[in-house]
Amino acid sequence: MNINEVISLFTKKYPKLLKNDEYQPPTYKCTRWLVLYGPVYDDKNFNGTFLLDVSKIFDWAFNHANKTWVSIKAEQQAKEYFPKWVQEADLNDESIIFLDKNQRDFLRQYTLKFIDDKLFKIWCPKCKKYNNSIEIKEFDNLKIGSTIFWNEEWYCINGQHLLNHEENRIEIF
Ligand SMILES: [Zn+2]
Repeated sequence: MNINEVISLFTKKYPKLLKNDEYQPPTYKCTRWLVLYGPVYDDKNFNGTFLLDVSKIFDWAFNHANKTWVSIKAEQQAKEYFPKWVQEADLNDESIIFLDKNQRDFLRQYTLKFIDDKLFKIWCPKCKKYNNSIEIKEFDNLKIGSTIFWNEEWYCINGQHLLNHEENRIEIF
């Protein structure tokens, strides 16, 4: 089944799940670095600042927009607009800019991919510098009924400074 068939099926079957608010695209130009996580968003437990490298994400953004679909209209529009926005970025401008809520909502789902593919850099407030890699530790796996809980911590590779602490859960059936 291709993406258009999925969309058409979903729209017919679950019309009430569609959220129809319109997306307001950014009116400013994209620069080299996008803040995906950091204190600026009030991210609880996130000490570092995680930046996506716009010079490396165009292919991903383009493929992602063409191959996926979400039922939240504003998020879908944000996703479709994103490749065009990053394609027209001023990569000589090293300043960092913030993402809007809809952009963050779809981008955050791919955090581990961005880390694996080295499409980021992360600021460590203790080292006061950026690094291009991090160390991720997972622990405390716990299963209660059909739910698995685990904690995830990100450390700076220089001095083992804690950059992020997340409490995750997943439902299995
Ligand atoms: Zn550090």
